[in-house]
Amino acid sequence: MTLRGGIAVLAVAALVSGCAQGGDGSDVGPAAGQQGAKEGRTAELRAAHQARVAAAKRWGLKRVPLTPPRPPAAKPTITTRKGFEVDGHRYDSLPPVFTTVPTKHKIVFLTIDDGAEKDPAFLRMMSELKIPYTAFLSDYLVKGDYGYFRKMQADGVVLNNHTLRHPYLPGLSYARQKREICGMQKVIEKRYGKRPTLFRPPFGSYNEATLRAAKSCGIKYAPLWNEEVFVDRWEYREWDRKIRPGDIVLSHFRGRQDWKGTMPDMIRRFLNKVTREGYAVARLEDYL
Ligand SMILES: [Zn+2]
Repeated sequence: MTLRGGIAVLAVAALVSGCAQGGDGSDVGPAAGQQGAKEGRTAELRAAHQARVAAAKRWGLKRVPLTPPRPPAAKPTITTRKGFEVDGHRYDSLPPVFTTVPTKHKIVFLTIDDGAEKDPAFLRMMSELKIPYTAFLSDYLVKGDYGYFRKMQADGVVLNNHTLRHPYLPGLSYARQKREICGMQKVIEKRYGKRPTLFRPPFGSYNEATLRAAKSCGIKYAPLWNEEVFVDRWEYREWDRKIRPGDIVLSHFRGRQDWKGTMPDMIRRFLNKVTREGYAVARLEDYL
């Protein structure tokens, strides 16, 4: 009984303390005559903060997600991670393959792949919590309900390329790889009005032909990932199993059919860990 009360108090304290680091750092001393505007801005920030606290509680988070810094004025230079290059990678300006974005801020980027699960609760959760993410879609999974991803796009999510049928690309000729990648460019342009500039090869597997094909249909970047989050665990690329600033995190549109839980369950696992470790979730496109 006592223990339970103690935990409840701790939970509330954690929810409140998560906000102290919120704010957007834009506060500067007001000039004469700007006091009213300053007060209005403070009230606005307070209301936004209270909405975040309420949303975090509603979705069962242990802490309020941290607010990411403002997008960088100068974008970082993205290069291919060592050991991930193909022949002619740099010389022919093939799309860089990377798992982490260079930054000193404690931020991570969430990317979600494939498109099998189409859970309305997931869309509500992400928009209420204001957590940015990037989607990599494969047409054979998406085509049953293009409308679901249109709602996602309306919430500010960028829809990117993950091929038409999710094949193991290095096993295919250049021409067939090109059909998979450029074909998906066309589908996304037709259904969602925008041609992606980001492409993720299925299984993270690619060869030189993959990147040449991707470049030929307008792809600028090939982001992979440094961690993967499932509904019941995390997996890491690094030996020390640690998150690093700028890491790209992978997850999937999967639900109870494949996982022991829902997409909101997965997001809770994701956010509880990154927030506890002092990371905010930023928008990948802001850094590219
Ligand atoms: Zn995939």
